[in-house]
Amino acid sequence: MESWNEECAVVGVYNVDNASVLSYYALFAMQHRGQEASGISASNGSKITTIKNNGLVTKIFTDRRLAKLQGRSAIGHNRYSTAGEDSINDAQPIFARYDLGEIAIAHNGNLTNAKEIREGLIKEGAIFQSHLDTENLIHLIARSQKEHLKDRIIDALHYVDGAYSFVFLSRSKMFVVRDRYGLRPLSLGKIHNEDGSIGYMVASETCAFDLAGVEFVRDIEPGEMLIFDGAYSFQNSQPQSIKVFESSPFSCVFEYVYFARPDSNVFGRNVYQARKQMGIELAKEHQIQADMVIPVPDSGVAAAIGYSKESGVDFELGIIRNHYVGRTFIEPTQKMREIKVRLKLNPIKELIKGKSIIVIDDSVVRGTTSKQIIKILRQAGAKQIHLLISSPPTISPCYYGVDTPDKESLICANKSIEEVRNFIGADSLGFLSIEGLLRSIAGDKQTFCKACFDGKYIDTYTLTHTKGC
Ligand code: AMP
Ligand code: SF4
Repeated sequence: MESWNEECAVVGVYNVDNASVLSYYALFAMQHRGQEASGISASNGSKITTIKNNGLVTKIFTDRRLAKLQGRSAIGHNRYSTAGEDSINDAQPIFARYDLGEIAIAHNGNLTNAKEIREGLIKEGAIFQSHLDTENLIHLIARSQKEHLKDRIIDALHYVDGAYSFVFLSRSKMFVVRDRYGLRPLSLGKIHNEDGSIGYMVASETCAFDLAGVEFVRDIEPGEMLIFDGAYSFQNSQPQSIKVFESSPFSCVFEYVYFARPDSNVFGRNVYQARKQMGIELAKEHQIQADMVIPVPDSGVAAAIGYSKESGVDFELGIIRNHYVGRTFIEPTQKMREIKVRLKLNPIKELIKGKSIIVIDDSVVRGTTSKQIIKILRQAGAKQIHLLISSPPTISPCYYGVDTPDKESLICANKSIEEVRNFIGADSLGFLSIEGLLRSIAGDKQTFCKACFDGKYIDTYTLTHTKGC
């Protein structure tokens, strides 16, 4: 895919001593959203300092490096891996100097008209340093004729379309914006400073608040901008809010299926509870006689608990995960993906041997993981293996920031369910229906994106009132 802003996590911290340290904790809590690169930009009021690198949060931010990130405001970013490109230039935040001073930007999502904007800017002489859609924003802000940064950001946002949770840091202010669809999650939290003043954190997931001891306030609304601007911005101890776009909610259901942490609340619903309910709905839709139900750890655990509760089939942890191995999906070659599944997951043979098993995982993408899991369970002596997936078949790629392969590589887009069953080698295969998924998240068809499951994308081009440069 022609995109480099996959998934990812963003954080912003304002009016707090050592804002970079809180950003660090938040990024650590959100490491699951991106393991390839991480960065923090901090402002001490007169200068923005940025440190970013490839690797995990704990590896990059040593005490010595954090000490260099001085100031009471900071923004941070975790970058998810995409095959082939690991340039440090593609790590965020992106920093630039321009006529109004200094600016740093962090972005979670994917701008659907980024290529078109970039080509227009290049024709006009702009020079780019990265593959990031986010860099377009720097150019658009620098070119805007508006006097204030807030208005320049709003100007720039009218050119871009797609999914974004943006956090902008200037030397004295912080701006936070969520796209009009609210595709990616973004929440606001409050920090009670020791001197009685109030500080703020915004983060992609609420698990970041829990680790940093931050009080959840609310989700940032689709199309809303929050402005953090010294004492002036806090009316009734809330940052100033501007509606930049009419909201037309279309939040990503896949955050519930796989991406967000179970201890986070996204789009107003706890992820663990949603996943457990997916298991309950799965049990209602697929009744199977078996000795036990086992999850593919960790992504299938909550759904397997729900399935066991509803069906009465015993829950067992039949596969053990080695947590020291990264996620398998991100490996570039098929061979590497297969090896990594084996490194990561090991069945308990004594439990599995001679048994009929229901295995629950969250999704089938290429089918590699399922095939390998069935293989290792057969080798462990399973009598029958029924694979149930707590989401519908993935039939279309995501253009809004979740890293999915092209349609040709999505097994369910190209084979019937019977052909997929045959390919992965299971005795039976079942998926949760779209209706079951929506019931689990207490959502409706209108306000949730499920395009990877039904191919119905937002018509971004007709919804955008301005595009191109
Ligand atoms: P696959 O082996 O290609 O069928 O991928 C399915 C497995 O990858 C499932 O076990 C999921 O937990 C996981 N998965 C699904 N979507 C993603 C994603 N966007 N990024 C990383 N892992 C994923
Ligand atoms: Fe989420 Fe799928 Fe929509 Fe992408 S296409 S935003 S993964 S629901």
